[in-house]
Amino acid sequence: MRILPVALILGGCASVSTQLPDITAPQLSAEQTRQEVLAFENLDRLQQRLMQVALPVLKANTELCPKTRQSVGVVMHSLKNYPKSLHPAAKRELNAGVEPTVRLIINGSAAEAAGIKIGDQFLSSEGKVTTPTSKAFQSQLKAGEPIQIRRGGKDMAINLKSETVCGYKVRLSISSTINAYADGRHITMTSGMMNFVEDDDELAQIVGHELAHNTMGHIRKIITNFVVSLGGTRYTRPFETEADYVGMYYMVRAGYNPDDVEEFWRRLALNSPKYVARDKTHPRFPNRYLSLAATREEIKAKQAAGLPLIPNFKAAEKKS
Ligand SMILES: [Zn+2]
Repeated sequence: MRILPVALILGGCASVSTQLPDITAPQLSAEQTRQEVLAFENLDRLQQRLMQVALPVLKANTELCPKTRQSVGVVMHSLKNYPKSLHPAAKRELNAGVEPTVRLIINGSAAEAAGIKIGDQFLSSEGKVTTPTSKAFQSQLKAGEPIQIRRGGKDMAINLKSETVCGYKVRLSISSTINAYADGRHITMTSGMMNFVEDDDELAQIVGHELAHNTMGHIRKIITNFVVSLGGTRYTRPFETEADYVGMYYMVRAGYNPDDVEEFWRRLALNSPKYVARDKTHPRFPNRYLSLAATREEIKAKQAAGLPLIPNFKAAEKKS
């Protein structure tokens, strides 16, 4: 069945009674381009910041992560990363195509050191366009073999020294909802969350929280773990508290400052008061505020005593 466009269904019945401003086609097209460019600039900014904050967390916790991968520190893109309506603009403004190309290079990354440029493509050993996260490319990186890239139609070999990080991909989701989630393979942050967190420390705490869902195996029982439940139904309370607890260790181990990160929950309370005392699926906001503060005290005591920053596991559940 074909679904009629909304305009077609509603069209014809409405006729306005005031004289509306005349907008010319060139004006309209120029403004549309302007807004598309602004949107892309904003996405790049969020993406860059997310990776810049998340990579150190993934890097500092490899010994606590059950799986690892090689990271070169780039964000790849292709047309399918953009909503369909933005495809013409993504082609025109960002040179996005069907095959993945480098969109962003993280400061201080292996890719930056190797002179990777925006628009470069990574090639498999058979000369096919691939991504740094593909299985074959990962083993090449791990083995330290020279890497083939394609730049402006020319293929060349480069030396790319990748870094070992926790084996989960970090993604930005274009959505105004304040949320983040983990699915066992990815850590996903919404643009709404990126705009809501006050500083990199808060963002690192959310990254740590989602990383903990993945490393602690919470996903075996639950498909999706949202950092905030705004209407979810699944029972995940103990897992949320554990992800907050372990996540703070992760962020501190990466060098982020845990002071005041619990303020996130007071600000969220202002933003979504009706969820403050709701505890159907997630711990109440006050509980999360207090647990984070208590975890910080525990971590600070360990730091003062010169003890390793490892979460306290229950004796029976200690990893063998
Ligand atoms: Zn969570």
